[in-house]
Parts: sequence; C-alpha cells; structure tokens
Amino acid sequence: MTAVGRGRPPLFDAATQELFLALIADGVRVADAAAKCGVARKTPAQLAARDRSFAALLAAAKDKGRLKRLPHNTAGGYTNWNCRCPHCTNAASRARSNAPDRKPAPVLTLTATQPTTATTKLPMLARVS
Ligand SMILES: [Zn+2]
Repeated sequence: MTAVGRGRPPLFDAATQELFLALIADGVRVADAAAKCGVARKTPAQLAARDRSFAALLAAAKDKGRLKRLPHNTAGGYTNWNCRCPHCTNAASRARSNAPDRKPAPVLTLTATQPTTATTKLPMLARVS
C-alpha cells in the first residue's frame, strides 16, 4: 500500500462510498449519485471491478434503488417494470377494463324519419288498399 500523506488523496474514499451507496439504495441513478459525490460516473463501476465486496454492496444497493423507483399502483408498474404486486396487478386490470375497445358501443337513437324502403313500403301499401 501507499504511504499515508503522500500522493493525491482518493476522491472516492470510504465516507464517499457510503454516501454513494446510500443514494443508489434510495433510488438515485448512478450518474446523479456520482455527480452528488463529486466523482466521475464510471469511478464506482471501476472500483466495483477491482473490489468484490464493493461490487456486492453496489449490486444490493442497485436492487433496492430499482424497487424504490418502481411506479407502484400504476399500469406502467405492471407492464413496463414487470411488477406483479397486487397494487400493480389491480391497476393494470383497471386500465385494461377502461380501454376504449372494451367499452360497449354507444346506442344511437335515430331522429330523422326513415326513407321509404322495401320494408316500410309494404305496410304503407297495405294501408292504401
Ligand atoms: Zn408494484
């Protein structure tokens, strides 16, 4: 290891790593969390490639963050995020039942008088004779 006090101090130290992982677990995206911590977007990924324990922590934090970002109780949560929780399932069912092709066709009442056709002509002829 390097001697203490020599060289450039690491920007992504233990405290910053902890803050970064907390932000990721809270649902913040990697680029935004890295910017907030003052490191480049690829720095955490580079550390994860070298350090297996950090890689495991990062993967767990990413899973947590993904669940937090998920739009529960929406049809999009079911359709786009593949969430099968009861809230998302119900929302997707509601959205499907409200789809325009599922609604019954409107019943129109005719206001104009019907033109004389074969079916209307026969009773008229019967009335004449
Ligand atoms: Zn859900």
